[in-house]
Amino acid sequence: MKYLVVIGLEVHVQLKTKTKMFCSCPVEFGVEPNKNICPVCTGQPGVLPTINKKALELAIKTALALNCKIQNNSIFARKNYYYPDLPKNYQISQYEKPLATDGFVEIEIKNGKKEVKKVYIKRIHLEEDAGKLLHAIGKEELNYSLIDYNRAGTPLIEIVTQPCIHSPEEAVEYLTTLRNILRYLDVSDCDMEKGTFRVDANLSLSVVEKDFVYEDYTKIPLGTKTEIKNMNSFKSIKSALSYEIERQKEILNSKGKILQETRLWNDNTLTTQSMRTKEEAHDYRYFPEPDLLPLELDYLFIEDIKKQIPEPPNKKKLRFKQEFELNEYEINILTSEKSMADFFDESINIYKQKYGCKDIKFISKTISNLIITEILGLINQENKSFEENKISAQNLAELVKLYNDGILSSKLVKEVISEMWKTNKSPQEIIKEKDLVQIQNQQLLRSIIQEVINENKKIVDDYKSGKTQALTALIGQIMKKTKGKANPKQAQEILKQLLK
Ligand code: ADP
Ligand code: MG
Ligand code: ZN
Repeated sequence: MKYLVVIGLEVHVQLKTKTKMFCSCPVEFGVEPNKNICPVCTGQPGVLPTINKKALELAIKTALALNCKIQNNSIFARKNYYYPDLPKNYQISQYEKPLATDGFVEIEIKNGKKEVKKVYIKRIHLEEDAGKLLHAIGKEELNYSLIDYNRAGTPLIEIVTQPCIHSPEEAVEYLTTLRNILRYLDVSDCDMEKGTFRVDANLSLSVVEKDFVYEDYTKIPLGTKTEIKNMNSFKSIKSALSYEIERQKEILNSKGKILQETRLWNDNTLTTQSMRTKEEAHDYRYFPEPDLLPLELDYLFIEDIKKQIPEPPNKKKLRFKQEFELNEYEINILTSEKSMADFFDESINIYKQKYGCKDIKFISKTISNLIITEILGLINQENKSFEENKISAQNLAELVKLYNDGILSSKLVKEVISEMWKTNKSPQEIIKEKDLVQIQNQQLLRSIIQEVINENKKIVDDYKSGKTQALTALIGQIMKKTKGKANPKQAQEILKQLLK
């Protein structure tokens, strides 16, 4: 016997809308409790929900980008349960006819070599979030609970995969890819810490014959699953899944039975603990929401949304490879955030327009290097995200031009870029102000180099006796004396001549 790990993921994503799903209360994070509430989202008698069009658009945008079929007559349903954070005693969700079904996400997996795998999406549906219960203020535990309804009625989509994921690594790769796509689409912040991207994981082990050959997920005999909740980072998700695999293995190895249950991940003990078993599971008594009509979607409405979908990360990666011949490392970094990839594209386009471009590969390599080593360095130093990048594509293109023309050395480029970050000035302005231009005057450079030779007799002797590294030391001295304003290549040529 051998075991096959089977995982299916349910992801709740908070949509980036100004207002709530069924009322016009604002959606805001971290504001005073119960500031954004009204009769609709607090479930007062006699109120009626209305559908947020923007939320619907974002959900459809996501569904299209995840290759789903949009259902033409999807239905809102009441999911009934009592809980203090749910003032209506039911959540409006979708059950029998969800907004979208049957899609897929392509992920990269490393099975010795790199492969592309499709993770199948079973369904995507729209729903509303519940409020928040507070059982502590900061570190102080309360002996009562507080309720904040600001989050009640916030638009969510739930994205559910088929049971076709077969390791914790694959699960994390899927989630990373999904989050990246959603951020590109600008449908959500997908911030796990703020709870705008929440993951529940279902896991089971299939017992298969030793000679079992994997074809596709529909051919696997499914075992009993457990559902794991309460994971707040990708790291926790990976640990929780790995733990759960071992726990289930142990039970099966000792001829035990897996209990179908919901388990909670505990980040302190690094274990999962049972929360409720199947017997205790809710019966939600789903039925169609009588206050909302089935969602009839116009063909043109969907076509319009289709047009707004930007180039997805995997297409962008391919284009960066084909068009610019960047390496995988560079491509992965540049495409990890849409704002960074856009900035890269924009800088190249400005360069092409302003200065023309014979060697696009060289230009793109320089721009990529400056973004990855310099700009990202500055961003990380200040603990910022790329959206807060303070350097304009215009100024970066200008800087690269100055470098290519030999006016700035690579050392000076670094200096100028950090000044650009601080002052928002153009490279030309900075160069003028700080007098940073490379020494163009050959005569001047020659005389400085002669001085360096005179002042460093010992190193010069070393060089003459055959120690080639001595040359590097002398170049270092020249760069020091010129405050980085010598062109290193030129300096080396002149130095060699003078030493002959
Ligand atoms: P439920 O009705 O319990 O919510 P669903 O059929 O809606 O179950 O599936 C919920 C999630 O659990 C989906 O992501 C699905 O792929 C996954 N899933 C279902 N059965 C299994 C199983 N045996 N092992 C692992 N994951 C499973
Ligand atoms: Mg479910
Ligand atoms: Zn409201």
